[in-house]
Amino acid sequence: MIIILDPNITEISEEYRTTLDHLSQMPGITMRVHKVQGAQQTLTEIYLIGDTKTLSAEDLHALPGVERVIRVSEEYRILGRHQDQQRTNGFEYNGIRFAQDTLNIFAGLCAVDTPEHVEQMLAALRDHGQTCTRMGAYKPRTNPYSFQGHGKDCLPYVFDLAGKYGIKVIAMEITHEDHLAEIHESLEQAGRPTGVMVQIGTRNTQNFELLKAVGRQQEFPVLFKRGFGITLNESLNAAEYLASEGNSRVVFCLRGVKTNMGDPHRNLVDFSQVPVIKRLTRMPVCVDPSHSVGSREHAPDGILDLMHAAAQGVVAGANMVLVDFHPEPAKALVDGPQALLLSELGWFLDDLALARECYEKRLALSRRRHGQH
Ligand code: PEP
Ligand code: MN
Repeated sequence: MIIILDPNITEISEEYRTTLDHLSQMPGITMRVHKVQGAQQTLTEIYLIGDTKTLSAEDLHALPGVERVIRVSEEYRILGRHQDQQRTNGFEYNGIRFAQDTLNIFAGLCAVDTPEHVEQMLAALRDHGQTCTRMGAYKPRTNPYSFQGHGKDCLPYVFDLAGKYGIKVIAMEITHEDHLAEIHESLEQAGRPTGVMVQIGTRNTQNFELLKAVGRQQEFPVLFKRGFGITLNESLNAAEYLASEGNSRVVFCLRGVKTNMGDPHRNLVDFSQVPVIKRLTRMPVCVDPSHSVGSREHAPDGILDLMHAAAQGVVAGANMVLVDFHPEPAKALVDGPQALLLSELGWFLDDLALARECYEKRLALSRRRHGQH
């Protein structure tokens, strides 16, 4: 059960103390207090854990300072929507808002290789008004003899250059909890010129100990990738591990699922699940067309499959796009064949702007149909 307090209630207010005193005396029930950062205000949510079936929502609603009481299912207790369309969602990080009604594009290198390529990538992003990127330093590779990423050695120049080109948030995968401290140290040493959204890759979706460690820290928000060989429900439960440990600033990323039914694409594109995740949870939803499609093939219309897939995600209301670019794909150490060219960045962004406009028009149409404004 979740008790949502009035937005103006603070920890020192009379109502807060009376209500918490009351709740703490209920037998067999433990509680956890969560602060949820909304666009305008911070909400206090109190989670009641234990045998809550016999509790009366009405009685709880009557306690001082209580705005709403939501009876939740066992699944995705914190990240779930629990059929409450008004539940606050989203968060702000380093000046960028991530929510179920915003759209942020994270174009960048699958893997950092040289400082020159990082700089060329970031300069192109700055020239196109972009403030987010992706930069892989720690790469989980299928083959142990493949390039594993430069790891912490590349962080100083990646962060310096990000600051130089006005990048606010870098999506960066980590494969071990020690990487959190490495990123923290490097950011500190560089004078915090940028921010990092820590990425959990599809190979680690159910690495529960890694999820718990990432969930215990509050410094970095998380980009959480759907597992490639498990159900959506299993992936959403895994994401809840982050929130249950204390970090609910999570963006959920669709990146295709592994089956040869998706051939000739690298994975079977699963972007039709964007609205499903928005309905079941309050996580903003990201789509990754690069790792879903995995090639630069195009249709007879001249549009790359990868761009068609990205547009499909955005037309369906996706809130973030994670996409591989490279200044010289032939020299890329990881995933060159699926990288878009810097000369295609403007085209890609214009194409997504059209898709977003289409989504906004679809939203207006739906609101008219439902008599909302
Ligand atoms: C990536 O984004 O670089 C990546 C490895 O993706 P995934 O975990 O989806 O394979
Ligand atoms: Mn990749």
